[in-house]
Amino acid sequence: NFMLLKIDRGVGGGVVVRGELARGSRYAAGEVGHVTVGTDAGRLCACGRRGCLETWASVRTIETRISEGEPAERVLREAGERVSIAIAPVVGALDLSEVVLSGPVQHLDGLLRDTAERTLRERVFLHDDVQVRMSALGEDVVLLGATAMLLHGELGIT
Ligand SMILES: [Zn+2]
Repeated sequence: NFMLLKIDRGVGGGVVVRGELARGSRYAAGEVGHVTVGTDAGRLCACGRRGCLETWASVRTIETRISEGEPAERVLREAGERVSIAIAPVVGALDLSEVVLSGPVQHLDGLLRDTAERTLRERVFLHDDVQVRMSALGEDVVLLGATAMLLHGELGIT
């Protein structure tokens, strides 16, 4: 039981429960990229709203903020926090044991992942051992493949 979170140009995801990819009623289970995170207004998103997860945690956002001179540490820490604010209810509601991050290791593995794991553990009740880890090809390749097919084929996410 885990969630795969693909952090790239956008933020997309898939949820696997009892070994099966959850589809949801719109084939969009796990799609948290345009969930508003926080009650602060946040930045304008490509979708027209403000404060979507993508405006905090997409690779595009991370790279833009750093190139505009914001300290990388703050940008990565905030991205990790917002990721977990968005996914903690999913982890709690579906009783997931793991969140797997997929995307550029230089941004995701380290401060972002550590902060996401700590924030997630603070925000769930029964899941204080929940893990946030990077995807390791090999072990995850089948599930990654299934999720990638869903993301590419049905949602048009690349
Ligand atoms: Zn949005």
